[in-house]
Amino acid sequence: MLKKNNNAFLKTIRVMFPKMVRSCPGLFALSALVSIANSLCMGILIWLSQNLYDVVIGAVSGETGKPGVVRAALLYGAVTVVNQILNGLSVYIMNVIFDIINRDITWELHRKSDRLKAINFENEQIYNQFQKAVQGRDEAIFLLFICFTPFTCHLPLYLFLGSYFYTVDPKFIFAVALIFLPVCLGYYFKIKAKERLVDDTAAPARKMDYYKQCITSREYFKETRILGAVDFFRNLFFEVMGVVNSLEMKYKTRSLRIDLLCKLVTLTGYGVVLYMLFSDVVAGAVSVGAFAAVLNGIGLLFDEMKELVSGDIGENIGSMGAVKSLLEFLELPEEEEKIPGREAGSPAGISSENASGSAAIKLKNVCFRYPNSETDVLKDLNLEIREGETVALVGQNGSGKTTLGKILLGLYEPTSGTVELAERWETIPEETADRRKHSDDGKANKARTRGVSAVFQDFRRYKMSLKENVMISDIEEPEDEEKARALLESMGIGLPMDTNLAVEFGGIDLSGGQWQRIAIARGIYRNCGFIVLDEPTAAIDPIEESALYHKFAEITRGRTAVLVTHRIGAAKIADRILVMEEGRCTDAGTHEQLMGRCAEYRRMYNAQAEWYR
Ligand code: ADP
Repeated sequence: MLKKNNNAFLKTIRVMFPKMVRSCPGLFALSALVSIANSLCMGILIWLSQNLYDVVIGAVSGETGKPGVVRAALLYGAVTVVNQILNGLSVYIMNVIFDIINRDITWELHRKSDRLKAINFENEQIYNQFQKAVQGRDEAIFLLFICFTPFTCHLPLYLFLGSYFYTVDPKFIFAVALIFLPVCLGYYFKIKAKERLVDDTAAPARKMDYYKQCITSREYFKETRILGAVDFFRNLFFEVMGVVNSLEMKYKTRSLRIDLLCKLVTLTGYGVVLYMLFSDVVAGAVSVGAFAAVLNGIGLLFDEMKELVSGDIGENIGSMGAVKSLLEFLELPEEEEKIPGREAGSPAGISSENASGSAAIKLKNVCFRYPNSETDVLKDLNLEIREGETVALVGQNGSGKTTLGKILLGLYEPTSGTVELAERWETIPEETADRRKHSDDGKANKARTRGVSAVFQDFRRYKMSLKENVMISDIEEPEDEEKARALLESMGIGLPMDTNLAVEFGGIDLSGGQWQRIAIARGIYRNCGFIVLDEPTAAIDPIEESALYHKFAEITRGRTAVLVTHRIGAAKIADRILVMEEGRCTDAGTHEQLMGRCAEYRRMYNAQAEWYR
């Protein structure tokens, strides 16, 4: 379960702010200087305006000369120009900072996804969390503004104008507090409400996206249309949209109420200040120029505060919930660099009778349960696979073959028990190994998958060239186009290597079987000592399938390999066949041995053979 954080706001600021400042410390310092200078300019303009108003009134009444007015106006104009330049510069620097931080947080999000334990992706909550985290990346940058601008922009302005108001009349300081306090409180309550909205709408928003995809995406639309399910998905979409809209409406109503209340109190404060100022002018305690300057000054402070709390920035800061999610996502536990139980241990359970060499993998009392599930999918598995051995996993649907394949690959860790890998399978040249050692980037991922490859049932169709579709499996190694071409040819794919396989980007599409052959070539192209082939021929026609299985036998020679297959006949190419039943490995042996002694194996074999008679 994900951690609930009660002090999210402060914690978010404490963690995210230094993270973002570290992205570009020099620019932050420059931005702070420009921002402080800009704020002081705004304060100085208010202060200068008192003199400007007084000399103009003096000139009108004949008490002062015109040169005094010109001097005051020129000075005011010069400071205004400087103020505008600093303003533009400040916005420009902020934009540059925005881009840099955006890039850095995106990088960190990708790095984090890469290092997350694979089992996390079986957990629905993670998808909510990830979606909110991506949203939070953008919001996090606005968080920077509430942390940064109050100190560099608002504080210098308040200090300067506060001192100026104090020289005019000390009581104005309290009046200013009366104006700002309600705005701050309103701001706090709005953040809380928005945080709840983000939490409540994450799951429905994800559902909405999914239903939309079912109607419009290339992957789904054919089936949706042919099944006549467009209306079904559309109704689901609008149903969920209704839920999201009503939650948003509730938030907006609450937000408006808070704003209205704050404005009422602030307006009262404004009235009090106006009354006090007016009384001072009438009593002759302050000049008309000071009256106008203080009124402008309070107006300016109020506008600044409003911009901070309820303008653009306030709205975005309201998405604190998303920023909190970003933080929580970045704190999720990562894959350990070392696969647990990598050290050799004593052999246990079903041992290999048919292969020689040392043990490559040993599973001891392994149980596995998916998140949000009540039952174990793998139950007390004990088995050993020897170096260079090819093992086939057979069994009915749902017996746990694919899950076991993922455990063997190190993608999932067992819920209990241990997986021991005797040594790395990697057979990489020393120079490449050295290069890998010195690269920090994605270290955990490399350690996790080093020397291991797989062809999954739900393989991906990368929207790239044919060559890239194969070589993507070993981008660490120098490109070996000859090897890729030979593999593709052996799989029956004779297209030019630079064929664009992305219809969306002006390329061509292939048949399901052709795509599967490319996926097999990709899995085998990777330099590895251990490979899992999970139903690698499901989309390939039976005549070709048999030839492919013999090719597997050739290709996997010298490598440790696990072949998950529902085709019992194909399992014959393996050195050993493991029979899986309801999460248990109930027997192991060669085809002949199992036909002789394993009733389940015989039953499956005969049932399939029946088809071909
Ligand atoms: P096989 O490959 O033998 O068909 P699997 O390993 O795919 O079997 O699945 C074994 C069992 O695990 C099935 O009963 C399936 O329902 C369950 N299962 C698979 N994925 C998940 C998941 N993400 N959450 C919960 N149960 C799952």
